[in-house]
Amino acid sequence: MKNNCIFCAIAAGEIPSFKVYEDELVVAYLDINPFSEGHTLVIPKVHSEGLLDTPDATLAEIIVRVKKVAAHLKAALPCDGFNILQNNGEAAGQTVRHVHFHIVPRTGGDALAFANRPGDREHLKALAARVRLA
Ligand code: 5GP
Ligand code: ZN
Repeated sequence: MKNNCIFCAIAAGEIPSFKVYEDELVVAYLDINPFSEGHTLVIPKVHSEGLLDTPDATLAEIIVRVKKVAAHLKAALPCDGFNILQNNGEAAGQTVRHVHFHIVPRTGGDALAFANRPGDREHLKALAARVRLA
């Protein structure tokens, strides 16, 4: 298996997947451990580990594919909305080190919860000043 990477193997067709979209740049397939009905992964065919080592031009092209696949899923499923998730690093829950975008279809009243906690406004203000891009 190239790079010892399971997603490279899926992109190459060496490992089976439930593909929902493919073109010259990306492949999209159903997650085998779905958060919800239709949970799909969109990956570039060329290996990179995460957001930061993926070329800007590639990312720009991938997000258009994410949009296309999400629109299709929204039309094709009982789906009221969707989340896009993109994990980077073990601490963030990334388990497969090949950059990927999750599309998680949502329906009103589903049991999925991405819990928010109220942020401290002063802390948020200072943090934004510290991390803001020039
Ligand atoms: P991460 O946690 O790295 O952001 O997400 C990796 C995702 O890949 C997980 O949701 C996991 O269920 C999925 N996954 C891991 N191995 C395979 C596989 O062999 N095939 C498919 N279709 N999904 C996989
Ligand atoms: Zn890979």
